[in-house]
Amino acid sequence: ERLLSAADRGEDDSSDATLRPQTLAQYVGQTAVKNQLDVYITAAKKREESLDHVLLYGPPGLGKTTMALVIANELGVHIRTTSGPAIEKPGDLIALLNELQAGDVLFIDEIHRLPKIVEEMLYSAMEDFYVDIVVGQGPAAHPVHFPLPPFTLIGATTRAGALSAPLRDRFGISAHMAYYTADQLSAIIQRSAAIFNLAIAPDAVHEIALRSRGTPRIANRLLKRVRDFADVANLEEASPDLVNQALTALQVDEKGLDATDRKILRLMIRQYGGGPVGLSTIAANIGEETTTIEEVYEPYLLQIEFIQRTPRGRIVTRQGYAHMGEPWPEEK
Ligand code: ADP
Repeated sequence: ERLLSAADRGEDDSSDATLRPQTLAQYVGQTAVKNQLDVYITAAKKREESLDHVLLYGPPGLGKTTMALVIANELGVHIRTTSGPAIEKPGDLIALLNELQAGDVLFIDEIHRLPKIVEEMLYSAMEDFYVDIVVGQGPAAHPVHFPLPPFTLIGATTRAGALSAPLRDRFGISAHMAYYTADQLSAIIQRSAAIFNLAIAPDAVHEIALRSRGTPRIANRLLKRVRDFADVANLEEASPDLVNQALTALQVDEKGLDATDRKILRLMIRQYGGGPVGLSTIAANIGEETTTIEEVYEPYLLQIEFIQRTPRGRIVTRQGYAHMGEPWPEEK
């Protein structure tokens, strides 16, 4: 079972609609982002204008899509959601833009994966609310100027650096989504447990929070598995013991690392003396995409300081060695 995946919105997320907060007030954490957006949303509503375009960036599962839905809800407008790879040609974009009413939100997830030709069309749409398209072929081909209602584009990406400068510059509001603290995750888990009608001990909530690698999506997934274990065991209340059992079965360790995280660390330590190792070498060795390592696994390992980035590649830190139960080489 994969707990982590950039693209995966699989079966486990099917009940997410009920778990997603609806308002800024219900949205736990990301205080700086919320405060900023609160001002801009209030101002836009007061002026009866569309909100400036918003770019949300940060690792998967931190609530970018949820935030886009909350923004549209707070603005009181419709939202259309799509993703970069789903918009294959300019016609696809036009079809989406054509459905927008004044003030609506268009949410594009994985916006760094938009085809170039679509991205270029987005420039004028974002800046001046029009697109120019060529209709017809051969001698009959002629340009058509297509005005659009003012709208808000919300783009989400795991890598702000992967966006071209012209696209990035057209977002008036840009917000970095940070990993959540254990307390914030506890609040999210408690809320989800209440929605599931699951009784869970505070210690058990805290234990899940500590092992969710700072990520609400993972916290909710772990909670669902704990709920399965509680149901099977016929327990009235999920206990820390039960959490341990469930997470051990999922191969999630005390730090929230999964089998792939540990594979990465073990490889770096045993085959490469703790590094430096390049990302592509790691990816090739463990059979994952380089981008998956870079966007999904590496950010958290960096965050908890188990690995470090150096100009020559990634190295495992002393804490990383200790966590893996590997002796720290004396010559280091
Ligand atoms: P992203 O778009 O960044 O990958 P999502 O918005 O899909 O992440 O969030 C993943 C899940 O985590 C959502 O289904 C939602 O239930 C939960 N979630 C994310 N952020 C929060 C939050 N701040 N408060 C409560 N739940 C959240």
